[in-house]
Amino acid sequence: MKDYYAILGVSREATQEEIKRAYRKLALEYHPDRHPGDKAMEERFKEINEAYAVLSDPEKRAQYDRGLLGAPEFSAQDLFDLFAQVFGFRPSRVAPRGEDLEALVEVALGDLLEGKEVEVPFSRLGPCEACSGQGGRRVVCPTCGGRGVVESYQRGFFGTLVNRTACPHCKGQGFLLKEACPTCQGRGRVPREERVRVRIPPGMDEGQLLRVPGYGNLGPGGPGDLYLRLRVKPHPHLERRGADLVYRLKLGLAQAALGTRVEVPGLSGPIPLDIPPGTGHGEVFVLPGEGLPHPGGRGALRVEVELAVPKKLSKRARELLRAYAEEVGEAVAPEGLWDRLKGFFHK
Ligand SMILES: [Zn+2]
Ligand SMILES: [Zn+2]
Repeated sequence: MKDYYAILGVSREATQEEIKRAYRKLALEYHPDRHPGDKAMEERFKEINEAYAVLSDPEKRAQYDRGLLGAPEFSAQDLFDLFAQVFGFRPSRVAPRGEDLEALVEVALGDLLEGKEVEVPFSRLGPCEACSGQGGRRVVCPTCGGRGVVESYQRGFFGTLVNRTACPHCKGQGFLLKEACPTCQGRGRVPREERVRVRIPPGMDEGQLLRVPGYGNLGPGGPGDLYLRLRVKPHPHLERRGADLVYRLKLGLAQAALGTRVEVPGLSGPIPLDIPPGTGHGEVFVLPGEGLPHPGGRGALRVEVELAVPKKLSKRARELLRAYAEEVGEAVAPEGLWDRLKGFFHK
């Protein structure tokens, strides 16, 4: 087993910061670009990177210290990636992903109680079946050897800089088309109607987006994502207000005055509710835990009272109401007055 501490020239007690500092100094010193054609220097550069890859990872370092780490295997690419990472060069995006898409998904209010698995139709530019999305017969790009990136080294004041950019020959794809597929004209993608099964989470909000990774348009660097926008179908009785539900309860005059028991159409079934005598218009009864799920539990069902004043009354009902008005001392229009006035105004 190699002595990684000796390779980096640090003590076995070295801190992560000391290890990094030693690595940065040595990696720049031994970078192959500074010693073109010198095999020994290249080997040393690889060793330095390997030592750093192990010692900079606390878990690997502990294993190494106890003699438990098997010989690590790093490819030349791993070592260059490590170098690029430490020195802050990110490989530029190779080939672009396909476009993201948006589709609408509609569920009933009741589906939001426990969430629901739905199948959503959508259209996208998907892989061409004739060529399996390859666009035709491919050959490895001779410029980048199929890696899609080219590297250039820049010697500057601070040492050697590595620039990694998308290969200009294959535009970062790593391959060239020898014969284009006639179905997709070499694009590798065609318009397709597809369906995807997703789970709508409980309590999801109207208009909220649900991300389905990999179901967007296909691009040279892979597919984009599909975003599903939620639409909730209107419910015949209930209205949504965040995680709360609202039910407008219509009460007759006598019910409001004398009290009653009603059934409220809750999302999970009818809920009995006692209305006490003397309930007024606009009063609200709150039923906790009968709303929609939210991260902290469930919202409430708010029962809002609407007093339904009768438009048409039978003769007997009118008489009874007159008797009632007399009893409590309310002044009311005399019998037949409104009918006569209506005749007068509409003549
Ligand atoms: Zn290329
Ligand atoms: Zn094709």
